[in-house]
Amino acid sequence: MPDRLALVSRDVVHCERCPRLRRWCRAVARTKVKRFQDQEYWGRPVPGFGDPRARLLVVGLAPAAHGGNRTGRVFTGDRSGDFLFAALHRAGFARLPVSVARDDGQELIGCYIAPVARCAPPANRPKPAEIVRCREYLAREWALLTAVRAVLVLGRIAMDGFLAMLRETDRPPPRRLAFAHGAAHDLGGGVRLFCSYHVSQQNTFTGRLTPRSFDSILAKVKRHLGGDGNR
Ligand code: SF4
Repeated sequence: MPDRLALVSRDVVHCERCPRLRRWCRAVARTKVKRFQDQEYWGRPVPGFGDPRARLLVVGLAPAAHGGNRTGRVFTGDRSGDFLFAALHRAGFARLPVSVARDDGQELIGCYIAPVARCAPPANRPKPAEIVRCREYLAREWALLTAVRAVLVLGRIAMDGFLAMLRETDRPPPRRLAFAHGAAHDLGGGVRLFCSYHVSQQNTFTGRLTPRSFDSILAKVKRHLGGDGNR
């Protein structure tokens, strides 16, 4: 399904549905931060990234102002991405341990990353209505990623956004599911939902989320998918 996923990405990149977020992303891209003054910011909505044959879908929150909004790729060029890609690499889901730019050669192996909101929000907080507006893109990717058997949600908002999307499909979740770090839930059809705290600095710098803890969740994902083969 690579071509149809590319169509979703194209639509995401040109989306203007949330005026507040579009204004914010453009303003950040104009002003920049000192350390990236010499760089041209992406400044547009950020599409999903990964393997069209993914068996693992990682659902994030939204791009970071000076991460995805700068580089144009989710979890790329910021501390959250440093943590996430290093872990995905250790688990065999990413070719490289870092993700710094769209042309860095990074490749996800059996894994696809999609946030519930595709524009960087002020204070890293999209409004509920913005997540609802953005849901169509996650739904379209979900329909195309037919090999997915594990979904890893990063934080409660990502979980709520993913489940809200799922409730609008012909495969809704079996019941109301509670978020807890390390919890896992069956979604039916052989798909299992895994929960983790978000990989943001508020969690990783404070020790609330450690590489060891995140690795253990990815190990459970791999066991569910069946051994070491991510494809
Ligand atoms: S958050 Fe989503 S729906 Fe809103 S403008 Fe960005 S891409 Fe469009």
